[in-house]
Amino acid sequence: MKHAEIAGAGFAGLVAAIALADRGWTVRVHEKTPFVRAEGFGLSMQENMLKVLEAVGVREEVVRGGQPIRQRLVLDAQGRTIMTSGGGFGWRISRSHIISALLERAKRAGVEVETESRAVGAEASGELLIANGRRLKADLVVGADGIHSAVRDSLGIHLQRRTRPDGAMRVLVPRPASTLDPSKDGTTRESWSGQRRFIVSRTRPDELYVAMSCRASDVAGRSVPLDVASWSQTFPEQAEFFAWMNGEADWSAVRWVRFETLRLARWHAGRVAIVGDAAHAMPPDLGQGAGCAMMNALSLACYEDLSEWEKHERPPPSILSAGQPSTGGRRACRDRFVRSLSRQWAESNGCTIAISAPRATFRPDTWRSEMLVERIEGKWIEAFRDVFQLCAVKPGEVVAILSETQSRKVLVELSELALHQLGARAFHVQLVSPPVASGVPVRSTGTSLAVAGLEPVIQALAATGMVVDCTVEGMLHAAELPRILAGGTRLMMISNEHPEVLERTKPTPELRERVRRGMQILGSAKHMRVTSAAGTDLDVHIDGAPARGAPGFVNEPGKVGYWPAGLCLCFPRPGSVNGTVVLAPGDVNLTFKRYIESPVRMVIENDYVTKIEGEGLDAALLRSYYEAWRDREAYATSHVGWGMNLDACAESMMMYDRKDINGTELRAFAGNFLYSTGANESAKRFTACHFDFPLRDCSVELDGKKVVDRGRLSAELA
Ligand SMILES: Cc1cc2nc3c(=O)[nH]c(=O)nc-3n(C[C@H](O)[C@H](O)[C@H](O)COP(=O)(O)OP(=O)(O)OC[C@H]3O[C@@H](n4cnc5c(N)ncnc54)[C@H](O)[C@@H]3O)c2cc1C
Repeated sequence: MKHAEIAGAGFAGLVAAIALADRGWTVRVHEKTPFVRAEGFGLSMQENMLKVLEAVGVREEVVRGGQPIRQRLVLDAQGRTIMTSGGGFGWRISRSHIISALLERAKRAGVEVETESRAVGAEASGELLIANGRRLKADLVVGADGIHSAVRDSLGIHLQRRTRPDGAMRVLVPRPASTLDPSKDGTTRESWSGQRRFIVSRTRPDELYVAMSCRASDVAGRSVPLDVASWSQTFPEQAEFFAWMNGEADWSAVRWVRFETLRLARWHAGRVAIVGDAAHAMPPDLGQGAGCAMMNALSLACYEDLSEWEKHERPPPSILSAGQPSTGGRRACRDRFVRSLSRQWAESNGCTIAISAPRATFRPDTWRSEMLVERIEGKWIEAFRDVFQLCAVKPGEVVAILSETQSRKVLVELSELALHQLGARAFHVQLVSPPVASGVPVRSTGTSLAVAGLEPVIQALAATGMVVDCTVEGMLHAAELPRILAGGTRLMMISNEHPEVLERTKPTPELRERVRRGMQILGSAKHMRVTSAAGTDLDVHIDGAPARGAPGFVNEPGKVGYWPAGLCLCFPRPGSVNGTVVLAPGDVNLTFKRYIESPVRMVIENDYVTKIEGEGLDAALLRSYYEAWRDREAYATSHVGWGMNLDACAESMMMYDRKDINGTELRAFAGNFLYSTGANESAKRFTACHFDFPLRDCSVELDGKKVVDRGRLSAELA
């Protein structure tokens, strides 16, 4: 029988203990305090935490003692509401209530809990060291001993600790008289003024949770007990409430805690796993610290091997290192980390988490709770201006901005402002978004139907110097495009992405030069072979296949550009594609905006996908979606090629809400092999069903010469 020693009887330690015990392990938990922490404050509990509680069988018991959050109000210093958000934030609940439920459940599962047993370190070989000198051997040692983890520190794993300038004190008070009660049932009220804020929310009908937050330098703000006069000066409307709360709360248990962010280079060493705050402490802004701690602890029990656990459960390092100024700095990096961690887990467990699906109504010109706000930013006008400069827009040139009623308005406005800065004479053509053409939902076709049949519009566009295409799907493959271009106008398609995506993937002359080199090799090649360790083995005869390079902008009459781009691809002639394409976990089904999680094997015979094999959801969804089209051509190869854009990020879908992106950058990330099914003019096949599958870790050979080697561009193209 396998044995685990766990340091820390908090959220992470108890969940890990239950999950392991349920799988037949003997488990002992060491808690340094005399009692498994009875004190505690209010926590917000979102769906990921609820799923864990469900998995360990205490969800019902826990939620019975909590308060669902039905509404969130944000107020200013004068008590005026500046934002109202609907439900979807889970529950507010006292920490001690969750801990007691977990503790009882752990005991029922046979877990031994030793209090006043302080861990002082661990050996990677599988030993937990206790303060009284005991060395306890185990198959698995778990460091769940919180942000100041002794187990983690003893292992010498590289650690980054960032102290934030702010912090909070948390107070539980009996529910006040209704005249003073600033919260209605299920309403969380958050008041802001300068650097101070306080949150009031019920954890159950007879208990209020109050969190008072301010900067560490704010001596009056952080003083315990509450400095009623100082806080009343900041929030005059709440003076009476502060005075009442000051008298009611038990201040002996209250501490002001500074927020910290912690990152570890690794989450395990040998037989020792680090979970919860010990591995990834985070400030409470998203209410996810305990939720993420429990997710990782639960998943520990699902892996035989800690390397596998870390590989699957930890967000990729690119997310952790994404805190550059251009991407929003440390705060954005942390938010991405939590979003990624939570979403990764949520997607594989079939739940949603409020932080990735905010539902809110806003008063104009106040705040928004989305991660990304679609408004004009100076930096984005500059980005658009730079791209239009690459497109050789000249002062006085007549440029049409083509959009439809469902277009992303911010892209239209940014186009107009950037063109204005360049002195171009821009005009708008806004079309009504066309009726849905098929019973099957379609995305990312590059074939806008908005202009279809509108002869006067086609003529007006054809008479301009350039068309900026902001239609939802884009005009790339629209039937009217040749006529629009015939007179020498050029068309620049702005993909339906949040401007932040466009900012990151701005085309450059250098990218155009590399795409040009790639196109030279592709254009003269006769044969493409694509292989991968996952099992892809594809033969494509590309002799005479029309090739298309996309550098991300257009500066020649009669041509088309699109942003983001950076691709080399070709449209094979009929009967020239045979072999197998294996979609492995981490590859992308871009039409579904989904990373592949379970392998899919597609057999391709004479251009057509003839078999889609795989046990998981990915294969099942592909099979049924293709079938829904009832169209043989849907299964045929559209184009093959590879990505050249070093600024495009393969993990970007983890970072954004689905509505923020079209995913175009994933077609272009450097070194991907892009296999697509759907329309192929060169083979005279037409269908509205289109799939783009960017694959990682493939090798692409042209006439025996590697242009991509196991997911990396050859030196000539990099
Ligand atoms: C102001 C504030 C508000 C927050 N709000 C939320 C929220 O709304 N929602 C949310 O999900 N998260 C929230 N969090 C974060 C949440 O509290 C933590 O992420 C969570 O407690 C981490 O759980 P853990 O089990 O990893 O660590 P802990 O909860 O810290 O548990 C660690 C346990 O180990 C014990 N221990 C420590 N050292 C040793 C040792 N050497 N030997 C043995 N035992 C030891 C401790 O006594 C403790 O019992 C908030 C945090 C703060 C500061």
